[in-house]
Amino acid sequence: MAQILDGKALAKKIKEQVAAEAASLPRRPGLAVILVGENPASQVYVRGKEKDCEECGILNLGCKIPAETSEEELLRIIAEMNADPAVDGILVQLPLPKHIDEGKVLRAISPAKDVDCFHPENVGEMMVGDPICWPCTPFGVMELLREYGISAAGKHCVVLGRSNIVGKPMTLLLLRDNGTVTVCHSRTPDLKEQCLKADILVAAVGKVNLVTADMVKEGAVVIDVAMNRNEAGKLCGDVDYVAVAEKASYITPVPGGVGPMTRAVLMRNVLAAAKDHQK
Ligand code: NAP
Repeated sequence: MAQILDGKALAKKIKEQVAAEAASLPRRPGLAVILVGENPASQVYVRGKEKDCEECGILNLGCKIPAETSEEELLRIIAEMNADPAVDGILVQLPLPKHIDEGKVLRAISPAKDVDCFHPENVGEMMVGDPICWPCTPFGVMELLREYGISAAGKHCVVLGRSNIVGKPMTLLLLRDNGTVTVCHSRTPDLKEQCLKADILVAAVGKVNLVTADMVKEGAVVIDVAMNRNEAGKLCGDVDYVAVAEKASYITPVPGGVGPMTRAVLMRNVLAAAKDHQK
């Protein structure tokens, strides 16, 4: 039976460390989360970030603006925050209303305040070295592995999903940790065959029960990034948890695995940006 990789517990520890360090800085770090419109899921995510800021002693300098806000006005708000020395991190909650060009908005955020690590300049930094911030979800996965003494070095890692937010940076981070990485996506013909090779399997697709026990090697480490709702409306990942936990050595639960780590790493990224700005 697999050991659970407890993201909730580690996230709590990380947030306590962030709070202690933030309190020792000459100026409190500040995060501006911009929410455009009233998407219910986005509202929940933003409330979570506000609560995390409060727990970590990070100033919440964000704003909530109506869905009809023009792209020009949003870009003006971002420019204002770029210039505000109290703001260390800027995060635009996605998705944006259809009339706003997401790429243009993400490029407008100063790379020094891009705590999501979505700006092309920071994406480039990821390729060649050490950016100040790494994308929160994949970095959270690496921190969770590290906490349990699991290294990718010499292991075969298989990443399911190649999105810019999760799959691609996850691949880079595993490679940086000296793993041998295979990336699978919707055009991969032999998913089971690929998954069976994995010592570390990371599922980031968004399909309930995509990964079944017959696809997992005995003793593999299984990381479930996905956040889906099953037919009963219950939160679940991509992995058939109960059956896969019988074969895996370690496994992340959903909820309580990668999700809380993503939130904690965001707080750590804001702290890292603040420290850099206060150098
Ligand atoms: P995304 O942008 O929709 O990407 C999904 C990826 O899965 C794509 O690369 C897609 O391939 C691939 N895919 C689709 N069907 C597949 C299949 N049958 N076999 C193999 N690959 C397949 O999603 P995302 O933003 O990366 O998010 C993925 C999941 O993680 C979602 O459930 C999301 O809610 C969750 N998530 C969780 C957190 C967290 O904090 N826990 C954070 C972010 C996301 P193509 O590229 O070929 O289309």
